[in-house]
Amino acid sequence: MEKGLRYRSRLILLFIILSYRPPLLIANQPGAEEKDLVIIGGGVAGYVAAIKAGQEGLKVTCIEKRGRLGGTCLNVGCIPSKSLLNNSHLYHQILHDSKPRGIEVGDVQLNLQAMMKAKDTSVTGLTKGIEYLFKKNGVEYIKGTGSFASEHEIKVQLNDGGETSVVGKNILIATGSESTPFPGLEFDEKRVVTSTGALSLEKVPEKLIVIGGGIIGLEMGSVWSRLGAKVTVVEFLDQIGGPGMDSQIAKEAQKVLKKQGIEFKLGTKVVSGENTGDNVKLQVDSAKGGKPESLEADVVLVAIGRRPYTAGLGLENIGLELDERGRVVIDSEYRTKASHIRCIGDCTFGPMLAHKAEEEAVAAVEYIKKGYGHVNYGVIPSVMYTYPEVAWVGQNEQELKSQNIPYKVGTFPFSANSRAKTNLDTEGFVKMIADPETDRLLGCHIIGPNAGEMIAEATLALEYGASTEDIARTCHAHPTLAEAFKEAAMATYSKAIHF
Ligand code: FAD
Ligand code: NAD
Repeated sequence: MEKGLRYRSRLILLFIILSYRPPLLIANQPGAEEKDLVIIGGGVAGYVAAIKAGQEGLKVTCIEKRGRLGGTCLNVGCIPSKSLLNNSHLYHQILHDSKPRGIEVGDVQLNLQAMMKAKDTSVTGLTKGIEYLFKKNGVEYIKGTGSFASEHEIKVQLNDGGETSVVGKNILIATGSESTPFPGLEFDEKRVVTSTGALSLEKVPEKLIVIGGGIIGLEMGSVWSRLGAKVTVVEFLDQIGGPGMDSQIAKEAQKVLKKQGIEFKLGTKVVSGENTGDNVKLQVDSAKGGKPESLEADVVLVAIGRRPYTAGLGLENIGLELDERGRVVIDSEYRTKASHIRCIGDCTFGPMLAHKAEEEAVAAVEYIKKGYGHVNYGVIPSVMYTYPEVAWVGQNEQELKSQNIPYKVGTFPFSANSRAKTNLDTEGFVKMIADPETDRLLGCHIIGPNAGEMIAEATLALEYGASTEDIARTCHAHPTLAEAFKEAAMATYSKAIHF
């Protein structure tokens, strides 16, 4: 009996010895454990992946060099720009649109410093909120710059000096993007600014030229125009808003923004620029062969796109590839050619949007944990937060035309919507595009009040393969702006009631 017990305990000991696998040792930190997932970058892609991984029970570390979580979006992108857009709109509306509403206001003053402070308060509250969520979900947060020492080991240059390294079974690259520079115009973030500088100008410029009529140009151009700057947008293409925006909607947006005081030079390319210290001089060329022209402004915003950011990551140390546009090359499961290293967000393919990064973060963690995940890239909404807002999802008319795909269109103007009329806010319309045979929704494009909220309904409809008749037969509350959405659906397969 005693002999049997001893034999069994020896067996157990042998089993323990054999089944014990030492953790991979971290350089400079003997004995430190291997993580299930190490994430480089604490922007939307990285922080969402970290929280999701924590929720899934993975041991996860997130490395962020900015000193604050939330990346471009929270610190110098979506959030601060929306704060300025919201408050500059209020200021502009009080100045120019209160009398017809029966509101007499006195001496309205802009306090730019206070407006900037309100922006900073929103940013700080949200970034701190992510730190709290990290703690809540057991995510280790390292403040520093990560780079590949080997395929599993990330060396970290800590923000407060010193160095450490972490080892991961899986690694996720989520290092985001940066503003594309304009050759010859160095960013000083005072006279020649990126969106980051444009979010923090100390005074309202007299004259602001925006190079690029994409979303950044139009959102930041709107902010400073409302606050009193004379804004000119120079855009190479013949339409504003970028190629995703439906041309009919883009024309309407340009008309409305022009009425608000923004000047546009379309089909015009900025070819060179010089920062004299007192002002900035630009040479522009008409794409249609007109005369070259010189323009001058006290501030120039360069908004000609963003490019993936992978500098200093040491991708060369492990032989990872970038494509011709600097994007990390991945497969449909976000894997690089080293299959345990994945990449998501702005530094790889697809639209540079926070919600796209967020979807990818969840899917990438699901691939790691469960072996499957999914993002529907055909159903990613876009919103431009100008006034009125512009929002769309799915295909636009010019894309369908160029692919010879048959379609039918239904539109409904906000001028015929009771809520918009009540609010004295009737600019814009809803445009729906559907398959003429099956009536399945192919795309929805809205310019109008609250378009950014309303597009969620179209996104859900598209995701679930709804027909325009399905939408039109869904009861919508009255009086709401969403009734314009319902009526545009009616107009696509039959006739709208109120127009
Ligand atoms: P990022 O947010 O750029 O995060 C990457 C992070 O990685 C950064 O914090 C960076 O410091 C860190 N990092 C990089 N290298 C390292 C390293 N080696 N080690 C450690 N950390 C590293 N999108 C929307 O959907 N809606 C909007 O309204 C919107 N508005 C925008 C307004 C502006 C002005 C700008 C510039 C962008 C806006 N965007 C908007 C785009 C959105 O911000 C990005 O799509 C989103 O931030 C991408 O997330 P990401 O995590 O991939 O990258
Ligand atoms: P963009 O690519 O949307 O627009 C850049 C524009 O600059 C293009 O229309 C291009 O034709 C023009 N351009 C380029 N070179 C030019 C030149 N030399 N002269 C004149 N025009 C020139 O880029 P962006 O507006 O800088 O935005 C970058 C990214 O940030 C986008 O991917 C966007 O999705 C994202 N973003 C999104 C939001 C949002 O979702 N609300 C807000 C801001 C930024």
